[in-house]
Amino acid sequence: MNKYQRTIEKEMEIKGIGLHSGKNVNLKLIPAEANTGIIFIRNGVSIPAYVDYANGFDFSTSLYKDGQWVKTIEHLMAALFFLDIDNLFIEIDNEEVPILDGSAKVFMEKIKEVGIREFKEEKLFAVLTKEIKTTYEDRFIVGKPSPYFKATYHANYNNSIIGNKKATYIHKDALTSEIPDARTYCFLEEVDFLRRKGLAQGGSLKNAVVIHEDNVINPEGFRFKDEPVKHKVLDLIGDLYLIGHSLVGDFYSFKGGHKLNAAFVKDLILQEAIDIVPASELHKETLKA
Ligand SMILES: [Zn+2]
Repeated sequence: MNKYQRTIEKEMEIKGIGLHSGKNVNLKLIPAEANTGIIFIRNGVSIPAYVDYANGFDFSTSLYKDGQWVKTIEHLMAALFFLDIDNLFIEIDNEEVPILDGSAKVFMEKIKEVGIREFKEEKLFAVLTKEIKTTYEDRFIVGKPSPYFKATYHANYNNSIIGNKKATYIHKDALTSEIPDARTYCFLEEVDFLRRKGLAQGGSLKNAVVIHEDNVINPEGFRFKDEPVKHKVLDLIGDLYLIGHSLVGDFYSFKGGHKLNAAFVKDLILQEAIDIVPASELHKETLKA
C-alpha cells in the first residue's frame, strides 16, 4: 500500500458515452492538492465523492448535490482506488460518467499515460476497528478488521454461467489482479426491461458482457474465468471508496448491490467503526500489503 497521498501528473480528458443515458460526455481530470479528496464538479457545483451525497442506485451509483447529478461513478472510483489516487477534481459536462469498456481498465490506462504525482503528505487510511454487518433480505455485507484491504463478492445466481461463485481482491495483488479488467454484464432477458426504464440506452457489446441463458452473446466471450463475479468485486470496491479514504479491512458481500454497498458505508460511519489513520501509524503488515 502506498504511504503518500497521490494525484495525477497533469490535466487530462476522457470522452465516451454514458451506459444508462447513452449521452456523450467529456470528463476533465484535474490534479488536486493533498487532503482535497475526490471531488466531481458539474455545472459549477462541487460534489465530493462521499457517501453523504450517494443517491439513486438504479443499476449504478450516483451522487447528487444542489440539483446536480453525477451518475455511474463506481468504475471510475474503483480505478482511482486501484491506483491509490486520493486527490482529484473531475469536471463532467453531462450527467453520467462514460462507461468506456465497462471496466476500470481504460480509466487506469489513461491515468497511467499522464502519470501519477506523489505528495510528501502522508496517505490517510480508513481503518475498520470492529466487525460490522449490514443486511437486506437475504443479502448482506460484513466487514472485519484486517491488516490490509481485502474485498470478496459471493454471487448466487440460478444459472450455470455465474451460479454460486466467489471472487476476491487483495490490494497488494493490484498489479496482477483481473478484477480491474472485469466488465459490466447483464442478462439479455433484462435488456428490454432496462431500456423501458430509460436505462442501458448506451449499452452495447462494446461496453458490457451480455449473457443469455448459459451463453455469452459477445463474440469474444469472457475476458477470463468468472468475469461477472469479478465485476461485482470491482463495483463493491468503487462503492466502498465513498468512505473518502482507502479502507483497511476485510469485506465480504453476499449478493450485495450498489444500494446495500452504500448502506454499508453509511453504517461504517454511523456505528463509528472507522478510524482515520496516517500511513506512519498503520500496522507494518498493512504497508507491506
Ligand atoms: Zn459495474
